[in-house]
Amino acid sequence: MIRLQSFTFNPFQENTYLLWDDSRECIIIDPGCYTVAEKQILASFIEDEKLKPVRLLNTHAHIDHILGNAFVCSRYGIQPEIHPGEMDILRAAPVYGEMWGIQAEPSPEPCRIPDPGDRIHAGKFSLEILFTPGHSPASVSFYSPDDRLLIGGDVLFYESIGRTDLPGGDYDTLICSIRERLFVLPPETKVYAGHGPATSISHEMEFNPFLSVR
Ligand SMILES: [Zn+2]
Repeated sequence: MIRLQSFTFNPFQENTYLLWDDSRECIIIDPGCYTVAEKQILASFIEDEKLKPVRLLNTHAHIDHILGNAFVCSRYGIQPEIHPGEMDILRAAPVYGEMWGIQAEPSPEPCRIPDPGDRIHAGKFSLEILFTPGHSPASVSFYSPDDRLLIGGDVLFYESIGRTDLPGGDYDTLICSIRERLFVLPPETKVYAGHGPATSISHEMEFNPFLSVR
């Protein structure tokens, strides 16, 4: 069974996730730790729980989701994995950060993420990769069918959806991703979003004002 811990980091209040199981191998998704104190919070948790980070995944390359990539990479020796369709955004992230007064350490070059439909393994658990573009050109979500949980980045939020006005964003594509890739998951699937509280597929199918069929 997957255990999960979230942290809310950086001025954008981005959610960083750690997933692990009894083996103590862990996956770090979207490390947004920015300040020295935030990096320490993440590292202390990993140390206290005796976790061994083995994969570093990014749902997409927006600045708030990759701010801690360099730290995680150097501290744990794992390369970021990110969809190749996000590379332009990844390279532009430090410039974008400057617009917000953020001095972003550039992310190390990612190794290519396995194709959508593939699985990412750590310990005795695995995550499926779902291709869910629209908020950014090649956003992916990570789904555990066994544990019925989804790490969705900025695609689907509690009673809201990701913005689509940033470069490479597209409203119709985002709605299509949610309907065709997320709303087909079991309704009880818990959705851990890139910002704000967790939700579930069933709650969003019923109450999300952007997707309501009523
Ligand atoms: Zn984003």
